[in-house]
Amino acid sequence: MNLRDYIRDIPDFPKQGILFFDITPLMADPKAFRHTIDTMADRFRSVGATKIMAAEARGFIFGAPLAYTMGIGFVPVRKPGKLPYKTRSVSYELEYGTDTLSMHEDAIAPGEKVLLIDDLLATGGTAGGLVQLAREARAEVVGMGFLVELSFLDGPGKMQSIGISYDALLS
Ligand code: AMP
Repeated sequence: MNLRDYIRDIPDFPKQGILFFDITPLMADPKAFRHTIDTMADRFRSVGATKIMAAEARGFIFGAPLAYTMGIGFVPVRKPGKLPYKTRSVSYELEYGTDTLSMHEDAIAPGEKVLLIDDLLATGGTAGGLVQLAREARAEVVGMGFLVELSFLDGPGKMQSIGISYDALLS
């Protein structure tokens, strides 16, 4: 099954010059969605993760069913002000400005092995924020997975510079 057939390209969304990868057709197709999660599970089963961390909103779409399939825990990473208990936060650089991600401070135990998941690697800003959060929680990042990587952007280089190897189903 070629998962690329289930991703719709939308030119100039959300602004001029951006080619947006719309994953909603993949999610709407039960075989394609199941194949995505099962393939990710096969690739990451051997890394020994006990938790998956993923950022809202599209990271949840893949991270939560993957955690369920792998039989491990799921840690939601959210925008500030959304999580009800004590949080730790990191701010990271975007092309224009900064963004912040938060997680519950007791969600990961020091030394715990975590797998980071997101839908798409573009500049690597979001992925870098997730890595920073995991490291501040003193977790061991044992892998990172994406459905899509945009290899013409800075993402791959950024991942290399922060010492994270990753796997993308489509590149
Ligand atoms: P970045 O932080 O630049 O690597 O961007 C990654 C996040 O932004 C991902 O979680 C995607 O959901 C979203 N994103 C960035 N660029 C695109 C794109 N061209 N198509 C779809 N989603 C994108």
